[in-house]
Amino acid sequence: MVEYVKGTPPDRWHWCENCTQYPRYIHQRRSKRPHSDLCDQCKIKEDNENCLTKEQVKIVKTLQ
Ligand SMILES: [Zn+2]
Repeated sequence: MVEYVKGTPPDRWHWCENCTQYPRYIHQRRSKRPHSDLCDQCKIKEDNENCLTKEQVKIVKTLQ
């Protein structure tokens, strides 16, 4: 399940846990994809199929 989160304003929506701008403190969260204000980096990761969810990040960290 993908979760869209937003940090301290004026942040944008992130959904890849491996995004370097993924917020530490989450102000807003939603499960539906927002129509605007999406993070560029998350978008690029998604296009490259490099977008990791929370569970996937955990697995990657365990493997390192
Ligand atoms: Zn992002």
